[in-house]
Amino acid sequence: MAKKKENTVVCCDFDGGLRMPKVCVSCGSDADEKRHEFIASNFLKTSKVKINFPVCDICYEADQKYVNAIPATIISSIAFIFSVFSLFNRPEKIPSGIFLAGGIIWLTVIAGYVVWTNIRAHQQNSRETILRRANLKKAITVSKFALPHRSAMGQIIFVFRDARFAKAFKNLNKGQILKK
Ligand SMILES: [Zn+2]
Repeated sequence: MAKKKENTVVCCDFDGGLRMPKVCVSCGSDADEKRHEFIASNFLKTSKVKINFPVCDICYEADQKYVNAIPATIISSIAFIFSVFSLFNRPEKIPSGIFLAGGIIWLTVIAGYVVWTNIRAHQQNSRETILRRANLKKAITVSKFALPHRSAMGQIIFVFRDARFAKAFKNLNKGQILKK
């Protein structure tokens, strides 16, 4: 895992379907049924296609297990700030004691949620999980993408991080490895 990976650029014809080797797209281990969904698109994002790449059980688990605490923390913090401000704008009809108590409970719930999410993230995101997930996110990029058009074959150029996957994929899809 530690060794630095060289990208492999694979160009192949694309008629809407691609054949997948039984190799993990992220780490190059043997893969079975598990899939990682990847959206390939052209530069302007005008055409997109969903491609399912094989992943090994360990990479798949790492991706599933990963807890991303950042969005929850940001959204909750914004909610918290707004709630604090609205505490100063009590509607006339509600008695101030009830309003204040409700406000404090609400703020406690938000704060508790943030703490809980972050503790969970800390417990579940081992170094291994973080590393595997990061590698999976970087495993595939598309440098050229053209959908099949009338009788013309489409073309797709992938940049793969894993050399073993790239080679097996190239062979199955009659592609070619491009020199950088
Ligand atoms: Zn893997």
